[in-house]
Amino acid sequence: MNCVSALIMANEFCALNVYNALNNYFVDQWCNHDMRYISAVDMQDLLEYMWEHLPRDKVMLQFLVDEYCLAYHLLELSDFEGPSSSLLVRCVKRFSELRDVAGERHGLPFRNRCYLEHASLDEKQECAGMHMVYDERTSHGYFR
Ligand SMILES: [Zn+2]
Repeated sequence: MNCVSALIMANEFCALNVYNALNNYFVDQWCNHDMRYISAVDMQDLLEYMWEHLPRDKVMLQFLVDEYCLAYHLLELSDFEGPSSSLLVRCVKRFSELRDVAGERHGLPFRNRCYLEHASLDEKQECAGMHMVYDERTSHGYFR
């Protein structure tokens, strides 16, 4: 079983500790082993699969949206095979944030985002990264 299947299964069985460990392992592997350079098609398949199977407030979804938007161009969104409108909206919001950063209008330190699932509030507060706050109204993860 690969990490993605295990992650989804851990979520479905509410095995929070296992889910958190797999989330953190995935993010670590992704960032440290050049997985971010997988093809656009594979990335889209992965993103769509995760989008179908994980709750919208999981930081994993925002991680994949952020990585996708950093690596690929907005026009490639048309290559998604019928992306759900909520996924499309989240990608467009992220592109909008990136455009703002590029224009230095807000100067957000967007590379300082933390995508780990921390075991406790104390551990989270000791982490220097910005953490996601999911906004159900806009279906988007904001970092602060
Ligand atoms: Zn953190």
